[in-house]
Amino acid sequence: MKVLVLGAGQLARMMALASKPLNIDVKAYDVGSNRVVDPLSLSVDYGDLDQGIADADFITAEFEHISHDVLALCEQSGKLFPSSQAIKTGGDRRLEKTLLEQTHVTNAKHKVVANKADFDSAIASLSLPLIMKSALAGYDGKGQWRLKDKSEAEAIWQDIQLFIEGDTSGQPQAIVVEQMVPFDREVSMVGVRSKTGETLAYPLTENHHSKGVLSVSLALNEHQHLQAQATEAFDKIANALDYVGVLAIEFFQVGDSLLVNEIAPRVHNSGHWTQQGADTSQFENHIRAVCQLPLGSTELVRPSAMVNILGTDTVPNNIFEIPSVTMHWYGKGKRPGRKMGHINICGKDKAELTMRLSQLAKILPKDDFPDVSEYVKSL
Ligand code: ATP
Ligand code: MG
Repeated sequence: MKVLVLGAGQLARMMALASKPLNIDVKAYDVGSNRVVDPLSLSVDYGDLDQGIADADFITAEFEHISHDVLALCEQSGKLFPSSQAIKTGGDRRLEKTLLEQTHVTNAKHKVVANKADFDSAIASLSLPLIMKSALAGYDGKGQWRLKDKSEAEAIWQDIQLFIEGDTSGQPQAIVVEQMVPFDREVSMVGVRSKTGETLAYPLTENHHSKGVLSVSLALNEHQHLQAQATEAFDKIANALDYVGVLAIEFFQVGDSLLVNEIAPRVHNSGHWTQQGADTSQFENHIRAVCQLPLGSTELVRPSAMVNILGTDTVPNNIFEIPSVTMHWYGKGKRPGRKMGHINICGKDKAELTMRLSQLAKILPKDDFPDVSEYVKSL
């Protein structure tokens, strides 16, 4: 079987690595160059999008910010899973919020803002502090503003206007203004839905961010009451989208309740631990769902964690002395803050995992992993 992935980054690469043993051949469409490439070497060229669509049995995506023209072409072929509507919903916070309202899934109080009048009325009707997010093209905390005091509103509006004017998506931009949630923790659920409507969810993952970017994810399978809430939200959202493939939902935990932050219609950074910590990795399960194969078990096989490698292309080799450390480099050129790879680490129980994590944190250079030690100490 042949799968074309829209996007040629690390997620396409890890889908390809998971697919080889299944005899499934994955190619990646690089939206920047309009070429279909090998997701590992990136240098082997298999033609343009039309060629890629013609050659593929199934088409999927590794990110949600894909031009609507490309999505429409793929959808016309009847090979695209999940649907273009599901991908667009994850790429536009307006559609995402509408979906959450329609499915009665709890999320932060918010307003959609398209002009200054909307902006002023949102500030008047919501309680501060607020977080403002661009409706389109936001990721890794980019395209976001925080308003703590009304006196900052004018300056933030000027900045938002510049951002909206600079938008190149060709679609009408807007801002979603949201009340800040005083959360205790951030967690996410990665799950998978088949074409026949079967859903399976991985255990909730606890996520620690640094400067708006995911730094460490932890999967322990110890939050059963929250797991039930998250699964209910997952099923509502995935069913409403008639979703096929892996879908991730980010939540804020406030006391014993979960509020949805956002959804990602794809495999997700907070699910990378599944490569070593689950019966079936999120990458394999996504490909299985897209290719209409039976889904794999999402059971946690051992407590696991993932540490993101941001902006550096080396880590000390003695991390390999820690049992169960697994390295995943993405083969990308170094840039400050760029996701370059990740480390997975596991233990037979929480105590062993946290002990190994603290060994890891001691070895990783503080300059490249500024907050990992502190987070690990808090566990
Ligand atoms: P990513 O691509 O990393 O998921 P993003 O750019 O899509 O990020 P969000 O996930 O919406 O953006 O926000 C980034 C981070 O900002 C969140 O993980 C959370 O820490 C914080 N944040 C976002 N919205 C809120 C909110 N309403 N209340 C409190 N914190 C928030
Ligand atoms: Mg997020």
